[in-house]
Amino acid sequence: KDALMGENTHEDSVFDTARTILVGSGKGGVGKSTIAVNLAIAASKLGHKVGLIDADILGFSISRMLGINDIRPNAIDETHMFPIRVHDIEAISMGNFVSEDSAVIWRGPLLSNILQQFMYNVQWGDIDYMFVDLPPGTGDVPLSIMQLIPQSYLLLTTTPQSAASHVAGRLGKMAQKVGVDILGVVENMSYFECPDCGSRHYIFGEKESEKLAKELKTMVLGEIPIITDIREKSDTGKPIALEDSNPVAEIYKEVFRNID
Ligand code: ADP
Repeated sequence: KDALMGENTHEDSVFDTARTILVGSGKGGVGKSTIAVNLAIAASKLGHKVGLIDADILGFSISRMLGINDIRPNAIDETHMFPIRVHDIEAISMGNFVSEDSAVIWRGPLLSNILQQFMYNVQWGDIDYMFVDLPPGTGDVPLSIMQLIPQSYLLLTTTPQSAASHVAGRLGKMAQKVGVDILGVVENMSYFECPDCGSRHYIFGEKESEKLAKELKTMVLGEIPIITDIREKSDTGKPIALEDSNPVAEIYKEVFRNID
């Protein structure tokens, strides 16, 4: 029995059939949500039916990145609501229920309640790939989700700073302890490519994610550069992965192909 979420008494959940990818990070601000959103869109562009759960209830940001802040889901009743269809994926986030500026100051029981609703009461329909944007770190929520969906896979996101990769390593070890397989490491903000001279600058360091991957006996699935466009497009609700001949969109597709 899980301390935060109770017993899993849910039959026939979407997690029995969808391949579930938990997108986690050691620290906040490394680009975990950006990666979750862009990978979800990349997977949809490659022909899959995709769901995305924003499990970062306190620090929700998926709804903004998808441009669906304040859009309420349709519901039949309290326990049957529909995800929001946007950019050809199905998504749900705390931002669909409260305004972006409100502080969500819930403790364990309320948190687990809304998470259970997202996971089990949303009518997900037919989904091939379910992406779950975890809260950062190794707290209760990531642990509970891993225990509820032991057949899920963890995708670790980190930046090249050793401070970020060490905590990511702890999350990886937590996953291994509870029997969740690690798909690999996506390194974000890996380098900056100078628009004038084309040379690459490794601002936050190099080789950290390789070390991390080796330690966890997994692989580096991709390196995503620091690019203003990634942030700007997320801020306007139209993630860069939507763009068809964009080289960065291709990187996300490549990362997805590596885990498909
Ligand atoms: P986390 O989910 O880890 O807290 P976010 O995905 O919210 O991080 O990203 C934090 C900020 O960094 C956001 O403003 C986002 O747009 C920006 N960002 C993420 N990845 C990149 C990147 N590769 N290049 C530029 N900005 C990025």
